[in-house]
Amino acid sequence: MRRSISWAALALAVSGVAGPIGPGHAQVAKPVSPPPVSLHITRSPDATSDRPIRAEYRLARPARALHFAPQLDGYRAMDWQPETAGFRWVREEDGERIERTDGKPFADLAFNIPVQYRSLEKSYAPFSPFSDGGLLLYSGHFQTCPSLPCKGTEPLAISIAAPGATIGVGGKRTANSATFISREEGTNVYIGTAEPVTTSGFLAIVDPELQPALRDHLLQSLPQSMRELAAIYGQLAITPELYVSLDPQPPSGTSLSSQGGTLPGQVFIHLYGDGWRKPIVPGDVLWLDWFFAHEAAHFFQRAGTNDVIGPDSEAWTHEGGADAMAALVMRGRSDTERAYVIRRIAEARKVCAAGLSQVPLNMATRAGKFDLHYQCGMLIALAIDADVRRGSGGAKGLHDVNRSFFATVRAGTAWSGTSFLATARRTGLSAPTLAAITAMTRQKLTDPARQIDAMLQQAGVDVAEQPGPSGP
Ligand SMILES: [Zn+2]
Repeated sequence: MRRSISWAALALAVSGVAGPIGPGHAQVAKPVSPPPVSLHITRSPDATSDRPIRAEYRLARPARALHFAPQLDGYRAMDWQPETAGFRWVREEDGERIERTDGKPFADLAFNIPVQYRSLEKSYAPFSPFSDGGLLLYSGHFQTCPSLPCKGTEPLAISIAAPGATIGVGGKRTANSATFISREEGTNVYIGTAEPVTTSGFLAIVDPELQPALRDHLLQSLPQSMRELAAIYGQLAITPELYVSLDPQPPSGTSLSSQGGTLPGQVFIHLYGDGWRKPIVPGDVLWLDWFFAHEAAHFFQRAGTNDVIGPDSEAWTHEGGADAMAALVMRGRSDTERAYVIRRIAEARKVCAAGLSQVPLNMATRAGKFDLHYQCGMLIALAIDADVRRGSGGAKGLHDVNRSFFATVRAGTAWSGTSFLATARRTGLSAPTLAAITAMTRQKLTDPARQIDAMLQQAGVDVAEQPGPSGP
């Protein structure tokens, strides 16, 4: 499943809908035999065009429909305008299909599509426009099947023509055109004229309209988290890309909003709303540092695991796990950041308790409460940290559990809540804390607030450190 992080930035409870995890690659490739379906994208150089993207599907053999999954809240039917009349969108299970209204097969279908930011419920935005006319195009939403079943992760051969622009995909940058195979989760493709900045092991494209203080801060924030985590988990073998886009035409009613996430080798964040044009000091946007620390943590979770990270139903392991890694590294910085982490933990206690009074954590994803994986998962991981720390006299903690766990996953163990907790137990997690965590992850709690605090206290998390209710 595809997911994304989105949030209203002014709130403290910012972790929002999701963090994207899962396999995905974009590779430059020359297919030897024609694929069943290929996509040919053209970006018009006309800056005034309402629909500058033309996306043409060509089928090796005529089919009666093109199937897509997931359905994306009806986004495609809204924005993808067939170039020729006589087509319609039809919902089917988790996805949708486009077919001719007369039911006849077709071998070619072109759409005209606006480059517009869309906040989708559980998925990455299809496009992230930059102020200078550049854009990120998320290839995953274009993946399609000429017949069912269709998971939406099927590989798709894509060619892109964008006269006068540079196309960045799969770690390569070429002028005017590119071809690649979009597979699994897909990738963000950059189309534009900005030159990347190399910063501390990153290739960064940051919107030129972003105010310099914020731009400079972002360019050091992500590398800082990467350095801190690399010191603990070892150097990554990749040079990740960082994309920061500032919407030239933000949706109305947004002031300081953002959406972002990671895909293999990429971190991206789209900033939208007028608030970004007003003066911002880095201290106002500590949640951005948290965001980068969280996304950086995903790189280390993924390293060497073929990018396979846990099932959605147990996302507390990787989303809560990444939040806990963010909490631990940010806690080691200044007092300001430490205070911020304390507020995040206090907020997580409230949100997790309220959520678990409605649905058990192992049902949260299905119940549309994916966010609980962040809040509750972070508390669980911090409980493990405190418990293992206490049991080892401070010699070990969550990072040791994680290092062992990532190693077992690299060695072939499936990433799951059970395998994660088994590693924690081997690393020294006490039986009572394990029991409290197991109850929290597997069953409906009768008094979540009390049981969460009991788990934290049992583990030795200093809950007295938590301040009372406070704003962000
Ligand atoms: Zn995440």
